[in-house]
Amino acid sequence: MAAPLQIFDGHNDVVSKLLRSRERDFFQRGTDGHIDLPRARDGGFAGGLFSIYVAADPQAAPPAGPVLGQHDGSDVRFPRPLELSFAQRESLAELGVLFRLQRDSAGALRVVRTVEDIEGAFADGAIAAVIHFEGAEAIDPRLEALEVFHAMGLRSIGPVWSRPNDFGEGVPYLFPHSPDTGRGLTDLGKALVRACQELGILVDVSHINEQGFWDIARLSQTPLVATHSNAHALVPTPRNLTDRQLDAIRDSGGIVGVNFALQFLRVDGRDDPDTPIARIVEQFQYLAERMGVDHVGFGADLDGAQIPSAVGDVTGLPRVVNALRDAGFDQESLVQMAHLNWFRVLSQTWKAA
Ligand SMILES: [Zn+2]
Repeated sequence: MAAPLQIFDGHNDVVSKLLRSRERDFFQRGTDGHIDLPRARDGGFAGGLFSIYVAADPQAAPPAGPVLGQHDGSDVRFPRPLELSFAQRESLAELGVLFRLQRDSAGALRVVRTVEDIEGAFADGAIAAVIHFEGAEAIDPRLEALEVFHAMGLRSIGPVWSRPNDFGEGVPYLFPHSPDTGRGLTDLGKALVRACQELGILVDVSHINEQGFWDIARLSQTPLVATHSNAHALVPTPRNLTDRQLDAIRDSGGIVGVNFALQFLRVDGRDDPDTPIARIVEQFQYLAERMGVDHVGFGADLDGAQIPSAVGDVTGLPRVVNALRDAGFDQESLVQMAHLNWFRVLSQTWKAA
């Protein structure tokens, strides 16, 4: 059997899951969650953006704030904002998990800082892990922590997850809804984007609302990147991108990583695992038709979302690749979407500093 196509993926949450689950062992083949080293190798998962994601503080009060709308019969409110000290403590703990994985892996997993590092890891069959912050809550208002985290290896940041913070506002989980859900970047958010441009840190537009998206587009000299989002024209969740947003990403030379989360694949917005791989293929097809195949990649959200049972876990990636091939994508396009497009965008972003 031929080796599976090497996939560089725009978003996974395995680090935050490993921090919270003592049962999971990254180096043993398991059945919990979506990613461990043996399963990653089977699936051709060769690297990607490894998310540092801080969940709500269990000590904090439950969400207050106004009811923003309804989803599945219940009220949707923003989660409560995170405290800086809590976000920094949790982020350091997750970074500790990731660096310990690197040390224990004997070269099988590497924290990478350049595209040359990624290509080297690919050549050696090692997993290339890019440090990504999903939400900038661990960054202080003077942006000193950004310098520190950059020195540690931070190369990608989404200013917001789906909640408000000092930098801007993410989209709440309303359905169906447009991504135009509130105010754009704050002055501090704009300063963060400028600082990231100076340091050569990718600024991710996934999770941000539409006003914030356009603020980032105005401030950015580098390709626009949605690490894990889909097309709003197919599935009208605010987490997906409108055609105008897709056109702006294309015009900037950027990329959209296709998200396998059920809610962003299904026209009814429901978390039903009985969702065919065809829904994923349709996203790839729509994005490739709208933007060109140069602007499409993977952003599967493994260990961060519920995904179709037909994919199951990271070992299902070759089934998605086969379905894309059956749908008419040729080998050259598949390799571009699997990793070359990501390499192009990351090298343009990181070298901009
Ligand atoms: Zn996410």
